[in-house]
Amino acid sequence: MTTRRQFIEKASLSTMAVTLPFASTFSSSVRKQEDKVLRVAIMGLGSYGTRVAEAMKDCKRAKLVGVISGTPSKIEAWKEKYGIPAKNCYNYENYHQIKDNPDIDAVYVITPNSLHKPHSIGVARAGKHVICEKPMALNAEEGREMIQACQEAGVHLLVGYRMHFETKTLEVIRRQRAGEFGKTLFFQGLSGFMIGDPKQWRLNRALAGGGAMMDIGIYSINGARYMLGEEPIWVTAQEVKTDPVKFKQGVDETITFQMGFPSGAVASCLSTYSMNNLDKFFLNGTKGFAEMQPSTGYGPIQARTNQGPIEAEHITHQTTQMDEMAAIILDGKSPVVPVDGEEGLRDLVIVDAIYEAVRTGARISLI
Ligand code: NAD
Repeated sequence: MTTRRQFIEKASLSTMAVTLPFASTFSSSVRKQEDKVLRVAIMGLGSYGTRVAEAMKDCKRAKLVGVISGTPSKIEAWKEKYGIPAKNCYNYENYHQIKDNPDIDAVYVITPNSLHKPHSIGVARAGKHVICEKPMALNAEEGREMIQACQEAGVHLLVGYRMHFETKTLEVIRRQRAGEFGKTLFFQGLSGFMIGDPKQWRLNRALAGGGAMMDIGIYSINGARYMLGEEPIWVTAQEVKTDPVKFKQGVDETITFQMGFPSGAVASCLSTYSMNNLDKFFLNGTKGFAEMQPSTGYGPIQARTNQGPIEAEHITHQTTQMDEMAAIILDGKSPVVPVDGEEGLRDLVIVDAIYEAVRTGARISLI
């Protein structure tokens, strides 16, 4: 049986022959420290923060050692549940003092979208590596500020793109790069769900930075790029709104968008907060195809190609992600698909262009 680590290493090797447009800037020649563990504090103890904490129980290279929260009762509960010492607990007013704490290496920012920039910059200035949830920021300008702050502080900036480490996703990417589908000229990405409570931060423009596109549509943007293995050169987009009360000005409900790529490939995608059963990628080539449904949910991911189903054991995505991110930070490992700030920024540039295309009706050039 191939272990997860062996599979990922195999996938890395088989893609090394092709020059990926998004190769990591970190050298893989950095000294291996495989005995070292990345000690992580989670900032934002909400629903996804809890999911990450649970998944980290099974990590081999990453360990939850600290928390940053504005809710004292949550801190107490997490101390108890995860064995976190009081000296590693902070709130949003005093977390900058983390710079004096040698027992924390990295902070995972899992707060609402508009807080990603200030929180990530605060963490970087405290000298800790930053792992930030998607979307990395509200727009490309904010993303660039974050990259610069992390560079100035000499810390890593990684984005929580858990699919970049998912086994079946990596196998489809390997086959695409190996030419097994022939020339891939079409990608379809369908990303959406029916959102509930109208009062939640995801429907508040100030905190979310937009609507479905920031939250779920970004999976189709990112997926088109890693499935096709190239960067788009133009976008077009159209918005539909059926409920302007729930989805206020600046909060997108449904957007269809298209992207064109240098090879001539096109992507056709849907981002929505108003329909369920939308978690599907389809990649079509001259010699074959890959279909993934579900494609980006918490799994198990289902994938099949013209050759038949792709079988692989389901491993909790966030467990793999945190172990692999530890290897990136501690060993200088280069992932098959990057998860650094530049990768996050590429998606934000496209999000900006999609919103501009919706506003203007124009085809927006990305070059
Ligand atoms: P959530 O509402 O469940 O949790 C957000 C946390 O941030 C809460 O604990 C809240 O108390 C805290 N917070 C701090 N300051 C706040 C403020 N001013 N206003 C509101 N809340 C504040 O949300 P979530 O679902 O955990 O999402 C958090 C982030 O994680 C988002 O950026 C989201 O896109 C991302 N996320 C990623 C995935 C993934 O699969 N990668 C999945 C879900 C969420």
